[in-house]
Amino acid sequence: MKNSIQFGLFILTFSVLLLIGYNIYLREITPPEQKYTDLLHELENKRILSVHFKGGWATTKDEYGRTYRTYVPDLQTLIPQLISKNITLSAEPDQEAGTAAFMKYVLLAMLVFGGWLLFSNRSGKKLPFAENTRSKRFSPVTTDTVTFEDVEGIAEAKLELQEIVQFLKNPEKYREIGARIPRGVLLQGSPGTGKTLLAKAIAGEADVAFFSLGGSDFVEMFVGVGASRVRELFDEAKHSAPCIIFIDEIDAIGGRRSGGTSSGASDEREQTLNALLVAMDGFSSGETIIVVAATNRPEILDPALLRPGRFDRQITIPVPDVKGRIKILAVHTQKIRMAPDVDLPSLARSIPGFSGAEIANLVNEAALMAARHDKNLVEMADFEEAKDKIIMGLERKSVVVSEQDRRVTAYHEAGHAIVGMILPDTDPIHKITIIPRGRAMGMTQQLPLDDRNTYSLEYLLARIKTLMGGRVAEALVFHRLTTGASNDILVATQIAQKIVCEWGMSETMGPIAYGPQENRQAPLSELSEQTSQAIDREIQHIITECYEETTAILTKHNKFLHKFAEALLLNETLDAEEADIVYRHYVREREMERKLSGVRSE
Ligand code: ADP
Ligand code: ZN
Repeated sequence: MKNSIQFGLFILTFSVLLLIGYNIYLREITPPEQKYTDLLHELENKRILSVHFKGGWATTKDEYGRTYRTYVPDLQTLIPQLISKNITLSAEPDQEAGTAAFMKYVLLAMLVFGGWLLFSNRSGKKLPFAENTRSKRFSPVTTDTVTFEDVEGIAEAKLELQEIVQFLKNPEKYREIGARIPRGVLLQGSPGTGKTLLAKAIAGEADVAFFSLGGSDFVEMFVGVGASRVRELFDEAKHSAPCIIFIDEIDAIGGRRSGGTSSGASDEREQTLNALLVAMDGFSSGETIIVVAATNRPEILDPALLRPGRFDRQITIPVPDVKGRIKILAVHTQKIRMAPDVDLPSLARSIPGFSGAEIANLVNEAALMAARHDKNLVEMADFEEAKDKIIMGLERKSVVVSEQDRRVTAYHEAGHAIVGMILPDTDPIHKITIIPRGRAMGMTQQLPLDDRNTYSLEYLLARIKTLMGGRVAEALVFHRLTTGASNDILVATQIAQKIVCEWGMSETMGPIAYGPQENRQAPLSELSEQTSQAIDREIQHIITECYEETTAILTKHNKFLHKFAEALLLNETLDAEEADIVYRHYVREREMERKLSGVRSE
């Protein structure tokens, strides 16, 4: 790929060095110049012993052995004078020595050739002979050995990508049925979560060519280079279809376009982005090429990239949870010789927040530690040592969540989940996690409230209580308030607001539309100061009541709260089924206790 550049550079340097050397040599053998009058003067004083003529130049040698070069304007008059003075004369034709002249031309040719080789490649043009020697800038990487089995802990993403693999393997089937084939897939997730690996695995599974390019490769100093590279890449890919084009860090070129005045750098970026869009739009439906791009900042991407026909499939690659980490550890420890004392599940539990790349690094570091200690098996102690080393590095980057924060988050999320599970009239819990994501420390997923459905007052109040569950649990267990509940409180307040002002569900305020908070208006007249205050009091009343009821629920089911929080701390993520297992376990225990206390009181 880089051969012709290197070759050009080599030729250029080589010929420049030769040229310099040749010139030094010439200077060495060329005597200094002197004026014609000085020559005549020397002649007068009879100091000259011999003269050598070449092309109008006379090289004189005097009695001290010094030689000079002089240009002679009138050979006709000078030569008889020299002869009369018995000076030895010699001459040669006016031509550079054959080899020297030849050398010069060869050098010049080499110089030009080397320069051309170098610069024609920079600007992205193809060299006439590059086709034969196959020295292409973009050539596919072999990925036969990478399969989905190498990528662990992201089962959902793999499932979604399975379809892409099927399509690459058998495009005709899809075309015949008239299905629109995806053009681009955007993988979004933190660094090291396996996006590149996953893209390679798609190619490996489907057994197609894999081209890759980093977003920052595009953005060079020379305007137009990035754009021509994109064209070149897509050109190359078309010859090798079916194939995958992988663009890492697409945000480097795919950031929102400014639209207004712009600097050189962003000009270049925009040109590159436009070239990419043109290239993607320019696929004919007969070409089986899928563009996979990766980013950890999807929010800054230009919306044009996400339009249908471009990167319309977006797949989130999460940081693995504890089960995922066990599997990733298993994949990477296959390559090393492990002592039987290594306990992967407990190791996985001790590295919350580690990405796939960090786990791969951990395994490698542990192997290095073992080798350093002259062991022939990697022991648990080596893993511990390697882990401490890596975590220390991570803490400096403050990626690691402190144990206390994890506990608070676990109780907070458990609070939401338990209230949601205990109260009737709630949506089923979908998933609870304490893996931080973006600014959120954890998350309890329920179906979102939407405006299309109708909801009962009971449902809405249960919703507010579920939202309060996080804050209440924190207050009950830690006797401390944190800012972690700010969004919950905002959403709860908005619901209470709507209950009173939009949905007319408040007994005291009656079925009246007071309008949204921003511009509360009575249907007929401006709201009086009094009404406005009454509304605020009513909203406050709803929230306070819900808060108190939530406190009662969590106090009563206090054991469930602890059980659930412990389960979260251990597993990090619980799905609906697992949450239900914890619940049933709790219910059984409570019944047992009741029976036992019944026996005792009898
Ligand atoms: P990204 O492209 O998301 O930054 P990479 O795919 O480059 O991450 O991951 C770097 C390395 O980390 C991979 O080559 C692999 O060894 C390891 N790795 C990352 N994620 C996983 C995973 N989910 N399963 C197995 N190994 C992984
Ligand atoms: Zn919350």
